[in-house]
Formats: sequence, structure tokens, C-alpha cells
Amino acid sequence: MLALSAGLLLEGSSQMRASLSWVTHSSQVLRAAHSARNHLQHAESGQRGFALTHNPEFAESIDAEIAGARGAANDLVALTTDNPAQNARAVQIRSLLMQRSDAVNEISRLARAGDFTGAEAAIASGRGRNLMLLVDARVSDLLNEERALSHQRIAAVERRLSFIRWLVALGTPITVITIAIMSVALIRRIRTPVEAMMTVMGQLGAGDRTARIDSDMASSEFQRLASGYNAMAEELQAAVADQAQSQEHLHKANLELSHNARVLRERGEVIELLGGMAHRMQAARTDEELAAIIRVFVPRVLPEIPGALYAHNNSRNLLVPIAAWGGLQVDSAGFAPDQCWALRRGQSHFVVEPGSDIVCAHVGDETHHYHCEPLLAGGEVIGVLYLKGVVGAESRFRLTVLAENIASALVNHRLQRGLREQTIRDPLTGLFNRRYMEETLALEISRASRSGSPLSLVMCDVDHFKRFNDDFGHEAGDAVLQAVAAEMRSRFREGDVVCRFGGEEFTVIAPGTTAAVLLDRVEGARQAIAELNVQQGGRTLGSMTMSFGIASWEDDMERDGSTLIKAADAALYRAKREGRDRVVVDGRAEAAA
Ligand code: GH3
Ligand code: MG
Ligand code: MG
Repeated sequence: MLALSAGLLLEGSSQMRASLSWVTHSSQVLRAAHSARNHLQHAESGQRGFALTHNPEFAESIDAEIAGARGAANDLVALTTDNPAQNARAVQIRSLLMQRSDAVNEISRLARAGDFTGAEAAIASGRGRNLMLLVDARVSDLLNEERALSHQRIAAVERRLSFIRWLVALGTPITVITIAIMSVALIRRIRTPVEAMMTVMGQLGAGDRTARIDSDMASSEFQRLASGYNAMAEELQAAVADQAQSQEHLHKANLELSHNARVLRERGEVIELLGGMAHRMQAARTDEELAAIIRVFVPRVLPEIPGALYAHNNSRNLLVPIAAWGGLQVDSAGFAPDQCWALRRGQSHFVVEPGSDIVCAHVGDETHHYHCEPLLAGGEVIGVLYLKGVVGAESRFRLTVLAENIASALVNHRLQRGLREQTIRDPLTGLFNRRYMEETLALEISRASRSGSPLSLVMCDVDHFKRFNDDFGHEAGDAVLQAVAAEMRSRFREGDVVCRFGGEEFTVIAPGTTAAVLLDRVEGARQAIAELNVQQGGRTLGSMTMSFGIASWEDDMERDGSTLIKAADAALYRAKREGRDRVVVDGRAEAAA
């Protein structure tokens, strides 16, 4: 439309210019016609004035005016070449003008030559005036025609102008409205997909990685843009998912690694702790020391779980408590092995909540969760670790290693104790042997001499023991010795050391006791033995008596105990000599008392 309007305007303006040039042309034609006629009229006026007045001044301008008239007539012919009708008129005008100017020239020539009469006659002939009328008529025709043409052309220009005005008046609003409608349509076509894309991009920016552009894009360019964006979002989502997954793997691996490291460190600590415990347990001499070590170390390995350690007694018919910790009260009588499921089955037995498993008979009614760990050594059950609480999975390793350590330490301790017992005990009677007696006596002597406290020694011998052997056999003699030994052991205090000196002779080391005080106790033992009635193999072996000699430690005696033994032996010898079945106190000891 704009191109059409511009073309029309261009065409209108060029036509306008053409019309205007035509109008200008017409005015030129008119001016040339007028100019030719005026020049001719001036020339004629000059010629007439000269001829009538004879004044040569009038003749001065005639030639110039005729030249001007002829020039204008030539211009007129030249200007009208485009229009044959007008040109014909112009040619006629020029011809008439030539004739008229020839006539004027002729009259002025006559006048100049002084033939004023001839000149006046020529003027009077009226030919000149007729020619002039013809020229006027022809010029008038030409002018009329030219004016008419000019009017036609101006009317055409006005028509063209009004058409252009209409065109502008109608074309401009139509163009503006069309542009506005197209702009709105275009903006809509752009804005809808752009808004859809921006919404989805905003969602992506806010963290929604599943947001995709799925609305109609209305143009292939936007469609390509949207699918390109969707592909990018897809890539991004996959990349983020990949990253999240690998991060999670890394995190898991890290957790596992640190967990393993912690477990290893803990295990190392536990092993170190248990190593320390095992070392101390190996060095423990007595059950009390063993118990003390267990009470210190077990709560460190398994904190906040009270418990107790039970071990088989010698005859293996009872499990007796060795140690308890965490404020747990245990029955010192212990329990039978078949009361514990862990011992019966030879594996861990635990109850984590009421009713989850059978409860061992040795566990009290008010205990709802506990753990029994059997102590195994060389495939043999040697005791049980009882824990009043739940042992978590993370503490199982501690418990297992603890049980193994305690079991081996306990076995070791038992073994050592057994070996030691073997070297210091008499196998027949279970009393300390002579070697132990001599060592202990030397020890007690040095202690007594240091502290100044009394120390006494008893030597005793079964009277006529040989008879038992002779009458009933050696085994009967052994039975008598065992009965006497048991009686002796029960008759003396805890701190007194009762030994089998050899054969049917016994010794008692009584630290902190004077002979006088000891006398009563020995007398009691003598009477008790005299009342014994030993049975063996379904036979009654009869009763027996025993003779006793008592001596006390004196500073001037040998520190190895030999003098004291001799003194006690001497007292015993006296008792034998004085009739047996009696107690004799060494002379010095008696004197001191
Ligand atoms: P007494 O002391 O009253 O003078 O008379 P006795 O018969 O007890 O004295 P004697 O020392 O002569 O006898 C001790 C006997 O004890 C000699 C030995 O055969 C016996 N005897 C020593 N050791 C054992 C033993 O371990 N078992 C048994 N059955 N007999 C033993
Ligand atoms: Mg004897
Ligand atoms: Mg004897």
C-alpha cells in the first residue's frame, strides 16, 4: 500500500510538473504572441508618425521594433512546434507579420527618401490596417486556443491534486490501521511463545528441573528454540541427577570409611585395653587379685552394663561368682551349670525384651533383658560372663574379645595355680608340704623378728600309726592320714599354716600366737582327733591318738627355722616319751608364758 501510494504520489507530482511546464509554456506562447504584436504596433505607430509629421525621431525605432517583432514571431513558431494547429496559426501570424513589416519598411523607406506623399498614399490604401486586423485576428485565435489549452491543463492538474489529496486522506489512516493490526498480531505471535519460555525458565531457575516448554510455539523458529531449550534442560537434569548420585555415593563411601575407621580405632583401643587386662590377670596370684582386675577392666570395656563373672568350682558342679561390677548383687552360692542356657548350648544366650527368648533359671525374675556369654577355653566351658543389660551390635566385638581374654586368663590362672599348688601341697592330704612349710616359716620368722610379734610352731605325730598299716593295709593308713589332716585344718585359724611334715607327722605355723594361747587350740585338736572314728572301705578302722609338741620363736634362734623346729620336735619327743596322746610345750616357751 505504501509503495502504491508512493508510486501514485510520484506519478501525480511528475504529472503536476508536466502540467505546470505546460502552463509555463502557454504563458511563454502568450508572451511571444503579445510581444510580436506589440513590436509590430510600435513599428507601425513610428512609421505613421514619421509619415504624418515628417519628424525623423519617429523613424528611429522602426527597424528595431520590426526586428523585435520578427524575433518574437520566430519564437512563437518555435514554441508551438509541439502543437500542429497552433503552429500553423503561428506560421500564418509570422507570414502576416512579415508582410506587414515589409509594408512598414516600404512606407518608411518612402518617407526617408522624402516621398511623404507616396508614404501617405500607401498608408491611406488601408492595406496595412487590414493586415494588422488579420494579425490581430490570428493572434487572438492563437491566444484563445492557448488559453483554452492552459485552462484544460490547469483543470487536469487540479483533478490530479484532488485525487492525490483523496489518496492521502484515505491511504494514511488505512495504512496506519493496517500497520497497527499487523503490529498487534506480530507482538502476539512473539509474546505468547516468549512468555511460555520465560515462565519455564523461571521455574528452572527456581529449582524445578522437570519444567519443559510444551505449549504451541506458533512459529518454526520459536519451536526450534523451545526444543533446543528442552534438550538443554534434559541434559541439565541428567547432569544434576548424575552429580547428586555420585555425591551420594561419595557421601556413603565417606560415612562407611569413617565408620570403619572408628570401628578399627575402637577395636584397637579395646584390644589394647584387654591386652593390659590379660597382662595383669596373668600376673595375678590369687582369685581376689583376679576379681579386682576384672572389676576394674570389664566396666571400661563394656561401660554402663552391670555384670558378674562366674567360673566352675573345682568339682565343676557349680558356677561360683569370681567378680561382680556395676553395683550388681550376686549370690555367693552360685548356680548349677544347667541353670544357664549359654552354658548348656555353649553359645551366647540373651534376652533383649520380655518374652523374646527363654530366661535362664539363674537370672532373677525382675530382670527383663540380659546377656550370658559362655567362657570357652580349648573347647571346654570354664565359666560364664553374665551382663544385666542389652549388648548392642556395636559392642559384640568387645564382648567376644573380652570373653576370649577372660577365658584364656582364667584358664591360665587356674593352670598356674594348679602347678603352684602341686609344688606346695601334699597330694594325699591337701595340706601344705614340708618345703612350703620351711619357706613360710623362714618368712614368718623374719616378719615376727621385724614386728616383735610372737610366733609359735606345733609338731605332731600320730601315735602307733604303723599299726594301721600293719592291721588294715597301706590304704587304710592313707585314709587315717586324710582324716587327721582334715581335722587339723579345721581346728586352726585362717592365718595358721597347717602342713604335712612327712609320714604321719604334721606341723602348724601359728603367726602372732604365743605357745600359751596355742596350747588350748592344740588341746582341742588333740581331743577331736582322739574322738575320730575313721571308716574305710566299709570298715571301721578304730580310733587313734596324737602327740603334740609346741615351741615359740626366740630372737636367738636360727632365722632359717631349724632351731624352732628342733625345739618343737623335742617337745613332741617328750610327749611321746611321757605316754603319747598329749601336748607338751617346749621348756623355754613355757617359761616365757
Ligand atoms: P610312734 O610314732 O607312736 O612312736 O609309733 P609309730 O608307729 O607311729 O612310729 P613309726 O615312725 O615307727 O611309724 C611310722 C610309720 O608310718 C612308718 C611308715 O610305714 C608309715 N608311713 C609313713 N608314711 C606313710 C604314708 O604316707 N602312708 C602310710 N599308710 N603309712 C606311712
Ligand atoms: Mg613318726
Ligand atoms: Mg608315729
